[in-house]
Amino acid sequence: MSLNGKVAVVTGGSRGIGRAICQRLASLGATVIVNFVSNPAAAEETVQSIRTAGGKAEASQFNVAVPAEIEAAFKTIIDTHGRVDILVNNAGITRDGLLMKMKDEQWDEVLNTNLKGVFLCTKAVSRGMMKQRWGRIINITSVIGFAGNAGQANYAAAKAGIVGFTKSVAKELASRGITVNGVAPGYIVTDMTRDLSEEVTNTIKGEIPMGVLGEPEDIAGAVAYLASDDARYVTGQFIHVNGGMFM
Ligand code: NDP
Repeated sequence: MSLNGKVAVVTGGSRGIGRAICQRLASLGATVIVNFVSNPAAAEETVQSIRTAGGKAEASQFNVAVPAEIEAAFKTIIDTHGRVDILVNNAGITRDGLLMKMKDEQWDEVLNTNLKGVFLCTKAVSRGMMKQRWGRIINITSVIGFAGNAGQANYAAAKAGIVGFTKSVAKELASRGITVNGVAPGYIVTDMTRDLSEEVTNTIKGEIPMGVLGEPEDIAGAVAYLASDDARYVTGQFIHVNGGMFM
């Protein structure tokens, strides 16, 4: 599996699952643009880890929920590298709360980052991918988007929205050599889940047939497959990486 010569943008690539995706794509030969929004030190750490391993990477700061920032960032990326071949829409946040107590801001922040951000970034790369007649768009959704979760109506709505979005855009772009797929992680050890209490973590483990949480590298492997030529005939699909938690 080789991604030599490909240019990949990974939103939220600086930490957690995104970092593992960046490292994996770079190890396969892609030049990786590591997006972040608020933590330049983490992005720099990711870039350095890739360069130390002999890969090519650079950081790019933009908020996936802000159209003007996306427009400017993708213009710079295309001016510098000439193309984007692979887009991984990975950036995501949680603002949990039960429906009765959920504030409009919690809803808007999660929908804007986790769903509108996917729309905006996909739109930003689609014209170029259509012209070059090759592209890979990989959207990171969640087991929660398929199964739902009390206290995460906003997050579940955004992640389920990604499913419909992915299938629709897959149909629109298929004839142009562009595939659009998704990966649905279960519970993965990252900053997003690290702070869960031992009690909650044990309850979650009890719901996972494999009995353990996943690692960011488990998601990176699925993304690498979807980005590769091996997956050239796969579009509009989701790979569930969750230890059997949801089938
Ligand atoms: P982390 O919280 O560890 O990292 C989030 C990343 O997203 C950071 O790089 C952060 O950048 C970036 N980010 C956040 N908001 C924005 C924004 N508005 N614009 C650009 N970048 C942004 O998350 P995970 O690695 O755990 O999650 C990655 C994806 O996987 C998310 O979409 C999440 O919903 C999904 N997922 C995670 C699961 C898990 O168990 N961890 C399970 C299922 C799905 P910065 O550091 O600069 O803020």
